[in-house]
Amino acid sequence: MRRTLAALAATVVLCAPVAARAAHACLDALAALDVPHRTGPKTKGIVQPIEVTGTLGGVVWRTWGTRALVLDCSLVEALARAGRYFVEAGVTEVFYSSAHQRRNIRGTSRPSSHSYGLAIDAHWFRGPTFEKLTVEDDWEQGLGDGYDCLGQPLTGGGSALRTVFCRMDRSGTFKHILTPDYDPDHHNHFHIEVRPWGERTDLAPAVTSP
Ligand SMILES: [Zn+2]
Repeated sequence: MRRTLAALAATVVLCAPVAARAAHACLDALAALDVPHRTGPKTKGIVQPIEVTGTLGGVVWRTWGTRALVLDCSLVEALARAGRYFVEAGVTEVFYSSAHQRRNIRGTSRPSSHSYGLAIDAHWFRGPTFEKLTVEDDWEQGLGDGYDCLGQPLTGGGSALRTVFCRMDRSGTFKHILTPDYDPDHHNHFHIEVRPWGERTDLAPAVTSP
């Protein structure tokens, strides 16, 4: 028993600095990307809560009312990096519904990644090129394949949405982007999800090392 406790203590001692380094690395990455934010507030379920206080990579994320957008640092960093995909497609404003929300994946007892602030649901988009693009009306289902992600969209809106999806999906930054092609639950939004910072495989060694 004593040996087990000693081993456990050693693991805790070893893991704590790793977690602290990961936390620092993510904050350093936000600083490098010039992300307007505040750390905290302490939020149940979120390992490293960040309150977004401005645009992410040139994109404003809006929802109903005035509630603050608080997400895990990993998702904030990923959305900041992906901002240019939206901007270059003519979108500078994204309307989201669910961000951090403690709930299970529908029909299961497994917590959704929304519970950890690692996912956000984007419903519609606006910008200099588009007055309003919605996933529900403008997403063209069944486009693209493993070789050609874009496929042949029939409309400008469909092309913009598909381009943003493909660039995010192929960037390796996100765990996955679920669209109306995935299942009927996603008929009207993109579910955009990242891995926790310490599990990200897309980060350069210079960012993840101490
Ligand atoms: Zn979702």
